[in-house]
Amino acid sequence: CGIVGYIGHRDAYPIVIKGLKRLEYRGYDSAGVMLYDETGIKLCKTKGKVSDLETKASDNLTTSGNIGIGHTRWATHGVPNDVNSHPHLSNSGDLVIIHNGIIENYAPLKEELIKRGYTFKSDTDTEVLVNLIEEVQKKENIKLGKAVQIALNQVVGAYAIAVFDKKNPNEIVAARLGSPLAIGVGEGEYFIASDASPFIEYTSNAVYLEDGEMANIRLHKPLKIRKIKDDSLVDPYIQELQM
Ligand code: GLU
Repeated sequence: CGIVGYIGHRDAYPIVIKGLKRLEYRGYDSAGVMLYDETGIKLCKTKGKVSDLETKASDNLTTSGNIGIGHTRWATHGVPNDVNSHPHLSNSGDLVIIHNGIIENYAPLKEELIKRGYTFKSDTDTEVLVNLIEEVQKKENIKLGKAVQIALNQVVGAYAIAVFDKKNPNEIVAARLGSPLAIGVGEGEYFIASDASPFIEYTSNAVYLEDGEMANIRLHKPLKIRKIKDDSLVDPYIQELQM
């Protein structure tokens, strides 16, 4: 399973697809991509291989957009099918998430969200998390990063996630606990991936998130990394990768 993301000046789609292929060795049963441009959020996802995703996208998707996230899924909650594939949308359609890992306490969280009127399309634990983030964001009237942080502090489990909010489309929020996540730091662009292989050809500067850290990855702004638990800021340690 794997995660890829891009925010910058290039076309995101080829970077995300190529990146997902580089992560195929990690194993998966489904693949999906979200792209964003001025027309809004565009989603394509399918059971099967990254090459199946490309075929589906070539029929169904305008692949423009300088922001994109992509995912390969190794199903833990819900069978491998198109609907359970990531990315997942929140109920409002504003938030998009990709997730590797498991939300162990998804059942009580889901029950609570259903009581508050949320509905679920998939059987995944991941769709619970994106709606929990949405509920927190609405209740507290806060930005995405803060909402992700509060939501993650209610979660038991393991994750590498990337979350996008179309209300503030110059940012991707990423976080990890138990699953790897690397951020490639380019000139006016950032890459996100489960390991550095998807972005090594574009930049040799990488920040590896530590367990329990989250990052605000914002266009034309420095990386902001903090601890999920206590909100303390962490100085990003940028490593020079060997090409
Ligand atoms: N638990 C999530 C799901 O079943 C993510 C699985 C993964 O790591 O790809 O959809």
